[in-house]
Amino acid sequence: MLQQTQVSRVMQKFPVFLKRFPTLRKLARAKSSDAIRAWRGMGYNNRVLRLQQLARIIEQHFDGRLPERVEQLRELPGIGPYTAHAVACFAFGKQVPVVDTNIARVLHRLFPTNGGRRSPGSTKPGGAETWELAGRILPKNRAYEWNQALMDLGATLCTGRSPRCGLCPLQTLCPSAHTVRHDKRKPTRPERGRGGTPNRIFRGRIVEVLRNLNGRGSISSSLLAKSVKQDYQHRDRRWFTELLDNLERDGLVQLRKFKSGVRVSLPEK
Ligand code: SF4
Repeated sequence: MLQQTQVSRVMQKFPVFLKRFPTLRKLARAKSSDAIRAWRGMGYNNRVLRLQQLARIIEQHFDGRLPERVEQLRELPGIGPYTAHAVACFAFGKQVPVVDTNIARVLHRLFPTNGGRRSPGSTKPGGAETWELAGRILPKNRAYEWNQALMDLGATLCTGRSPRCGLCPLQTLCPSAHTVRHDKRKPTRPERGRGGTPNRIFRGRIVEVLRNLNGRGSISSSLLAKSVKQDYQHRDRRWFTELLDNLERDGLVQLRKFKSGVRVSLPEK
């Protein structure tokens, strides 16, 4: 939930979602349309489908319980090295290192010639050398506190663009202290969209309209188009069809094609 969504919003939604799906088994056995409805207000709706896919695999192969070891977690779809180590450490107390962007940056600055062999100030997420370094310096039986502390340091003081070395408890040990250039933010590429509104906003609106059908079936694609883009015109047709096709490919909508047109609904599976 926290990927791309603000903590304040997740804090409201997480308990509601957990009440609806208190176990992975419940989520695995739910209809996708119910899972999508329960995700209301969170945006980036394909995250809930991926979560449900994960829950189904865990039910099938791990008797409905999330595995605890990094190697098992790594075999699950959508779980990369960072998530596997973070879950093993923070949920199950395993003594393993964690490397996210913040931690990689802190390590690169503290050990500029050791963990990834990058220059001080690099913000590139850790490669194999960074993971190896993170494992080597992990204090015995303190993985939880250590990993949390490094993350906090990277998020609050040793930030990417303007590290606050004067406040940092490591400044007397750190070879990069007061040497990191204050990076300029790179210009971001504009998102694809229509009339200045990004496609992801239209995707969210489409799913929201379908949620509000409340099980009353489907809606015609032309009515749907006008609901999500009030100034919808014939020339938008190709763009809108592509939007729907992508949503169908992601499993978020179901399209049924008739001679009279296309009907759209949430997936019923
Ligand atoms: S002294 Fe500066 S560069 Fe070094 S860890 Fe602290 S904030 Fe980061």
